[in-house]
Amino acid sequence: MNILIFGPNGSGKGTQGDLVKQKYQLAHIESGAIFREHIGGGTELGKKAKAYIDRGDLVPDDITIPMVLETLQSKGAKGWLLDGFPRNMVQAEKLYDALKAANIELDYVIEILLPREVAKNRIMGRRLCKTNNNHPNNIFIDAIKPDGDKCRVCGGELSARSDDQDEGAINKRHDIYYDTKTGTLAAAYFYKELAKKGATKYIELDGLGTIDSIKDTLLGQLA
Ligand code: AMP
Repeated sequence: MNILIFGPNGSGKGTQGDLVKQKYQLAHIESGAIFREHIGGGTELGKKAKAYIDRGDLVPDDITIPMVLETLQSKGAKGWLLDGFPRNMVQAEKLYDALKAANIELDYVIEILLPREVAKNRIMGRRLCKTNNNHPNNIFIDAIKPDGDKCRVCGGELSARSDDQDEGAINKRHDIYYDTKTGTLAAAYFYKELAKKGATKYIELDGLGTIDSIKDTLLGQLA
């Protein structure tokens, strides 16, 4: 099974993606993570990409597109969940062309819908438990509100990630995501149109739901 997943930063895309990946044993291909590996490994590609990533800009298409297409080829033979790509119209079209040329089916496209203000608050409301990073705490989500200023799971100390508190950086990322003309939503809608012609299936999820309710809806719709 081959899947694309779209959702703004703060929509729970990572959490849902992990669940789907595990259930269907898919290679999780995340463009951002591939860049981070290159940067960590000090490769030429990593050096080129770093300045863009540090500024919160998109890495140019002539670097990103071949990198992702090669990873799909090398790691995706048994099915993939592609996350973080495509992020603009050019990438959407190139991916479509590459899949068509290689005769690869795109089974599902998932979009997690979340209003921009809500996504921003969710990012700014995230709190990290010092005892365990996986304990979910968010001051703006009722289901996972901290217990006072302590972790709701274990009572541990909480802190906020500095990049989660940088409103400018969050706005920049969301400007790209919510751009329906050439940005990430434009890329998502490109696939939504293809789904109307039967070329793939498009699943829309209400990101305002709880993690469990979104998961149940999603797994119910995947064959
Ligand atoms: P992420 O982990 O998805 O937030 O990605 C981290 C950074 O990697 C982004 O802010 C971009 O600078 C870069 N990046 C990831 N995916 C892409 C993409 N599809 N096109 C261009 N740049 C990307």
